Amino acid sequence: MLSVEDARDRILSYFQPLASVDVPLLEALGLTLDEDLVADFDIPPLANSAMDGYALRSVDITAASKYNPVSLPVNGYIAAGDVPTKPVSPGAAVRIMTGAPVPEGADAVVPFEDTDEEARRQISDTISEISVNLCAEPGENIRPAGEDIQRGATVVTKGTELTPGVIGVAASLGRTSVRAIRRPIIAIVSTGDELVDPGDELGPGKIYNSNAFSIASMSEKYGAVAEIVGIARDSIESLENLLEEAVKYDMVVTSAGVSKGDYDVVKDVLAKGGEIALWSVRMRPAKPLAFGALNAPDGRKVPHLGLPGNPVSAMVAFEQFGRPAIRVMLGKKALPKPSIVAILDDPVHNHDGRRVYARVEVYRDDNGNFRARSTGNQSSGALHSMAYARGLAICPHDVATIAAGSEIKVEMLDWPDDDLLSAPIDD
Ligand code: AMP
Ligand code: MG
Repeated sequence: MLSVEDARDRILSYFQPLASVDVPLLEALGLTLDEDLVADFDIPPLANSAMDGYALRSVDITAASKYNPVSLPVNGYIAAGDVPTKPVSPGAAVRIMTGAPVPEGADAVVPFEDTDEEARRQISDTISEISVNLCAEPGENIRPAGEDIQRGATVVTKGTELTPGVIGVAASLGRTSVRAIRRPIIAIVSTGDELVDPGDELGPGKIYNSNAFSIASMSEKYGAVAEIVGIARDSIESLENLLEEAVKYDMVVTSAGVSKGDYDVVKDVLAKGGEIALWSVRMRPAKPLAFGALNAPDGRKVPHLGLPGNPVSAMVAFEQFGRPAIRVMLGKKALPKPSIVAILDDPVHNHDGRRVYARVEVYRDDNGNFRARSTGNQSSGALHSMAYARGLAICPHDVATIAAGSEIKVEMLDWPDDDLLSAPIDD
C-alpha cells in the first residue's frame, strides 16, 4: 500500500503553476503575483500633514509653552486635495488638515490640541490668529514625500500572495489590475446509476449527488474555479461523453467507480483513454484512489484524480490530494494544512494498519488547551460527520489506539470561530 505522502508526491509530479494573466484587483485575492510591483512615483507624492493643525516654522515657536503661548497670524487654509499656492511667511501659520500638502516654508505642524483653536472656534468661525502652547521639532507631524514608498522601489516581489495588504499597495500605485497566476478550473464528474441531483425527485433506490457539491466547494475554498460537468451513469459511453467535456479544463476530478465493484467503470474508461494508476493508499477513509492523465483533443495531458465514491472518503482524499494540486497550479507551495496538537475526548482506533483521519470538532477548554471531540459515526458514508468537523485527528498507521486524554495531531480543516486561536489582549 502507498503512503499518503508517496501518493501525493506522485500526483504532484503531474502539476505545475499555470500561466499568468492580467487580473482586476478585486478578483486577485489569494492569487500569486507574477510580476514585481514597482513604484513609478513617491507615495505620498508630496510632504503632507499627519494631523489637523497649524503648519508653521519651528523656529518661530521655540519659546512656546503652556505658560508662554506664542501667537501667530493665520494666513491661509489647506485641505486634503488642495495644492498650496503660497509659502508660509516667517512668523505666520497656515491652518492645515490631515493629508494636505505642507506649504513651502513650513517645517512643522502643531496639532489643534496644542493651540487655543477650540476656544477661538467658540467665538468665531474664522480664525485670524492662533496661540501655540508647545514648541515643535523640525519635521514634527509632517510625513515626508516618499515616506511610505519611494519612486523606483520594488514594493512587492513576484511570487507573493495577493493579500488585502498587497492589493491595497497595488491600488496605491494606481494599478487597476495585476499580473497573477490564473485560477485553475476543476471539472467535476460524479459517477453512479444511483445518483440524482438536488432539486430533482429522489426515486426509489436513489441518493442525492452530494460529492459534486462538497468537492466543488472545496475546490473554490482553495482558490480554484469549480465546473460541475454532471453525473455519468455506470456505463463506458456515458462516462466517455462527460469526460469529453471535462478534459477542456485544467484538472478532472471524478468520484466513485474506482473500487472493485461490477460497475466501477472509471478505471475501464481511463485504461482506454489515458494513463491510469489505481492505488490502495494506506489511509482510512479513502483507501481506493485512481490517478492518471487524460488525453485532450488539443494534445494536453489533463491530470485526473479519481476519488472514492463514499462521501467522507471523497472529501478526505480531496483534502489530501486535490488541495495540494490546486496550490501547485496557483504557484503556491504544496504544504499540508496547518496542524495543532489537541487532547482527545474520545479514543481513536486503528483496525488495519492504515493512517486514520478521524473527524473531530476542535475547541479550547478552560485551561486554554485544544481539545478534539469525535463528530460521531466515523463511517466513510456518514457525511454528517463532516458537517461539524473542524479537523482531522491523525492516528499513525502503526499505532493501534490513541486513548482518550492523550495528545493527538489534528490537521485543521477550518478554524471554528475566529477566536479558537486568539487570546484577549491585556492592555
Ligand atoms: P462506489 O465507489 O461507486 O462503489 O460508491 C461508493 C459509495 O459512495 C456508494 O454508497 C455510493 O452510492 C456513494 N456515492 C457515490 N457517488 C456519490 C455521490 N456523487 N454523492 C454521494 N454518494 C455517492
Ligand atoms: Mg458506483
